[in-house]
Amino acid sequence: MNAEVVDGKLVSQVLREKMKSRVEALAKRDIKPGLAVILVGDDAASQVYVRNKVAACQAVGVYSVVYRLSEDVSEQNVLDELMRLNNNSEINGILVQLPLPKHIDEDKILEIISPEKDVDGFHKINVGAMVTGNARFYPCTPHGVMKLLEHYGVVIEGKHAVVVGRSNIVGKPMALMLLEKGATVSICTSKTSNLASFTRQADIVVVAVGKPKVLSGAMIKPGATIIDVGINRLADGSLAGDVDFDSVREVAGFLTPVPGGVGPMTITMLLENTIRSSEMEEMRQ
Ligand code: NDP
Repeated sequence: MNAEVVDGKLVSQVLREKMKSRVEALAKRDIKPGLAVILVGDDAASQVYVRNKVAACQAVGVYSVVYRLSEDVSEQNVLDELMRLNNNSEINGILVQLPLPKHIDEDKILEIISPEKDVDGFHKINVGAMVTGNARFYPCTPHGVMKLLEHYGVVIEGKHAVVVGRSNIVGKPMALMLLEKGATVSICTSKTSNLASFTRQADIVVVAVGKPKVLSGAMIKPGATIIDVGINRLADGSLAGDVDFDSVREVAGFLTPVPGGVGPMTITMLLENTIRSSEMEEMRQ
């Protein structure tokens, strides 16, 4: 059996088309959703991510502005910039591109962003809201995964989902969102002994580790849905996920590729959250 390879670009396109009409509806009422991105330093991968986010905004009619701060900017300067953006009525979404240089306290930065503009969904107030089933903004990557599963009609309720990885931005919210939809969820980490004994039981496996070939075809159940969140730069310069694509493809039912799977969906969900923020702001007026 050969898995159906999920097309994240295509699903993103479908969702972005629907977003365009929401942006047009807002424009008729003189409202333009706005996203501010703060980029500190010149990390090559971060530059690419930010460029892609700006291009995606342009394509659906969302205003975007990038604040490029030097690697040695003080923490206070970043905090001041964020305070200004919190008070800027043209901005509905604020995103600080991670990782930040070591001298800047990431927690402090994320907590100063107004929860109403926290389109990454990382603020503790928004995390708490999500945990209690009252989400304002779902974190973009797991949200994108849920939209992919929905698009392909993958049944979640009553199924066993295994999430590999427990980061605050992917693993933990992913597990929670699957739980919310009725899956029985296991979370595996670097401390899990015998990962395969978990993944072999799973109907859905989401891998968010950051190491190539963590999951092979021998470690999964035939027909399982495999979501590869990982992005790894290989020695030859090419990109690979966390999944051994070729062996998993022979066993899985659905499989996301890297690139072209979860990545485009993450950016699409950033657009979703920014437009949603703008719509919610209008309702508060
Ligand atoms: P983190 O490094 O924060 O977390 C990695 C997790 O993987 C940790 O919980 C760690 O466990 C676990 N882990 C490490 N090694 C193993 C192993 N051998 N077996 C099982 N679990 C293991 O990474 P992120 O969650 O931020 O990102 C994960 C990957 O996803 C990265 O490649 C990143 O680039 C990519 N990514 C992709 C996005 C996209 O849009 N496609 C968006 C965000 C991230 P422990 O906690 O015990 O250390």
